[in-house]
Amino acid sequence: MSEEKETRDKVPSETSGEQPEDKKPEEYEKYCFMCKRPESKAGKMIELPGNIHVCADCMQKSFDTMQNINLNYNDLMKNLPPNISMIDLSSLRNQIPPQPKVKKKEEKKEKKEFSIKDIPPPHKIKEQLDEYVIGQEQAKKIMAVGVYNHYKRVFSDPGDDVEIEKSNMLMIGPTGSGKTYLVQTLARLLDVPLAITDATSLTEAGYIGDDIESVVSKLLAAADNDVERAQHGIIFIDEIDKIAKKKNTNQRDVSGEAVQQGMLKLLEGSEVEVPVGANSKNAMVPLTTVDTRNILFICGGAFPDLPDIIKERLNKQSSIGFQADLKDKYDEDKNLLMQVTVEDLRNFGMIPEFLGRLPIVFALESLTEDMLVQILQEPKNAILKQYRRLLEMDEVKLEFEEGALRAIARRALEKDTGARALRAIIEEFMLDIMYEIPKDDTIGEVVITREYVEHTGGPRIIMRGQEIPELGMRS
Ligand code: ADP
Repeated sequence: MSEEKETRDKVPSETSGEQPEDKKPEEYEKYCFMCKRPESKAGKMIELPGNIHVCADCMQKSFDTMQNINLNYNDLMKNLPPNISMIDLSSLRNQIPPQPKVKKKEEKKEKKEFSIKDIPPPHKIKEQLDEYVIGQEQAKKIMAVGVYNHYKRVFSDPGDDVEIEKSNMLMIGPTGSGKTYLVQTLARLLDVPLAITDATSLTEAGYIGDDIESVVSKLLAAADNDVERAQHGIIFIDEIDKIAKKKNTNQRDVSGEAVQQGMLKLLEGSEVEVPVGANSKNAMVPLTTVDTRNILFICGGAFPDLPDIIKERLNKQSSIGFQADLKDKYDEDKNLLMQVTVEDLRNFGMIPEFLGRLPIVFALESLTEDMLVQILQEPKNAILKQYRRLLEMDEVKLEFEEGALRAIARRALEKDTGARALRAIIEEFMLDIMYEIPKDDTIGEVVITREYVEHTGGPRIIMRGQEIPELGMRS
């Protein structure tokens, strides 16, 4: 892909060819003879004989002064005090001081057009996701195809009689299962701008309409205020389950439902006025229009009670006589979320119109101990690789025993925050290592043992050229 990009960046030879000398644009800026401001600041110059330039302001000021004096030229000459004489511009021809030379700012290079060629086919997208995201095979596949189709739609002929539907997605997965991480990785590898926002923040502001549009404002900022780029970016709205209609309450619940309603137009495609370079609209900030028709919306949420709703549905579908047995059967199913249907989501409190605008629905697996062990060490930017690299700079090798990795994964599972817990656990015990090791340059290798992770022993320290079995326990 990089090769392709390079060729696209090259300017065609006939446009890059040298221009004849007389057609070359001037290299240096013109300066106002009176106020000394360059043309880039003072505006277009009026050219006077003798290669003298005067800006419009100074020219106007001169006229005004002449008029105020209210004398004709002869009177003026007659009434001039003896020590003042009028300047004859032509006499200055040979006395012009050398003008400071400031190079004109180079005009911005033409923007590279974003095209379908920039989007790799689904199997390549998945391959690249595999380098970073462990497991979640089905989710990666669905996302890769969804994204590819989305950009096909973006570049399809608007006059085509077959209109391709927008591939907005709804991703369901427990906390720390990698929802945000998947979207971030996807946006990075596609090189499109990404805005991440939280659905709960959308309910907080009083004036809902404005607040929902702030999502687009964030995307514009992520695209460096380039409207064109923002219009084919990705918006990830997390915690979408928090704007579900509340059930079984006597009070009228409007907030969640109203936000869902408010988002419909945005998801589908509408023109939104957003402030440039600021979060809120006010008189001082210029506004621009962003069309959300080609923006890919991905919503994500943990949907905590959804497994019960799914279980209930599955139980109802079974024959009544076996219901008691089946209840137990689904209790054990950790990946019940994978069986979600639109009906279940409606029962959860998402309104049908909202779900209709998120045609791709899929769930992430809950992370297992094995997956957590893999997450620790396999992704391209795995946390263990990062620590290894840091100690390598002190010329110290860092190893982890298999038992240590399992112990870390088990502790993370207990916390029930998915892979998010891993970093906190590792940081806690690596602090001592990162602090102590650089003190002693005879240390050649550190082995993190299961005992060290479980607070029942120390790490194994190996000196350069020799091996010392174990250091004392950690305090
Ligand atoms: P969520 O948005 O689902 O709550 P995150 O995407 O924020 O979870 O995940 C937290 C961190 O856990 C990520 O930054 C990433 O480092 C790691 N992580 C989660 N799932 C995976 C995975 N499947 N593969 C690799 N890393 C993962």
